Amino acid sequence: MSTATASPEKIEVSKDDFKFIGSEKNISAFNIECPICLMVIMDKPCKTSCCKKNFCRACISRITGDCPMCRKKYMNYTADRRFRRIVYSQKMQCMKKKPQGAECGWKGELGSLTHHLKSCDYVIVQCSHCDLKDTLLRIDLKDHLENHCPMHPVKCPFSWLGCEERPLRKDVEKHYSDTKHATLFEAAYQKLCSDATNLRMANNHLTSCLNRHRSHESRLAADMRFNYLENELQTLKWEHEELKNRHDNLKIIIIVVIVAVLAVAICITNYYH
Ligand SMILES: [Zn+2]
Ligand SMILES: [Zn+2]
Ligand SMILES: [Zn+2]
Ligand SMILES: [Zn+2]
Ligand SMILES: [Zn+2]
Repeated sequence: MSTATASPEKIEVSKDDFKFIGSEKNISAFNIECPICLMVIMDKPCKTSCCKKNFCRACISRITGDCPMCRKKYMNYTADRRFRRIVYSQKMQCMKKKPQGAECGWKGELGSLTHHLKSCDYVIVQCSHCDLKDTLLRIDLKDHLENHCPMHPVKCPFSWLGCEERPLRKDVEKHYSDTKHATLFEAAYQKLCSDATNLRMANNHLTSCLNRHRSHESRLAADMRFNYLENELQTLKWEHEELKNRHDNLKIIIIVVIVAVLAVAICITNYYH
């Protein structure tokens, strides 16, 4: 299990937090883990002059007596620039991951790892509201705050009634029972009642409009029917007039024919007498 934490002041890195992905030959001369804190030396690497061991400066500077490695008296140490240059330029991959699941996979130089871990999703962080630590990954922090953290302020379930308070999640049930919600309910109920009355009035108005509209419509239909009949009547009248004219013409033709026949008959009779 990795031991790096995301405390803002100091990020500790263990060997399990990353793996080298380039050639590691030229770093075998260094001990990248500090023999005192047992973490990877990520800041101000030093080297003892007696046994040439590497330490974090913060760790070795606290030693006042003999060398902790070779026990030499009057131990002396200096900053190790070669360590800084060679070890920190090694290519590596971040091995932070969920206990059984996705892993980070970020790749870069070892010297950039501390900076990466400040934003790595798979680093253990501490919730700033409750005392949850050691198990909470940065990637899960948002879900923890939004859905689980007992000390995180949440919206009152009756915010739709107008309650603007934000009780802590652990106090939500106690907050429910606050009598102010009954008052808010009462006000909401009164508003609903008056809304219902307004709706009923609007409904009645619409119904009467609809009825008026319907009777107007049937009057219009009757008018249209009347106009149609009137047109029909007019057409029949014209037809009647035309037939009458034709009948009169026919009468004249018949009279003319009869007169002509009679005249012919008279002529024939006179001829034979
Ligand atoms: Zn150390
Ligand atoms: Zn030594
Ligand atoms: Zn990472
Ligand atoms: Zn929390
Ligand atoms: Zn409330």
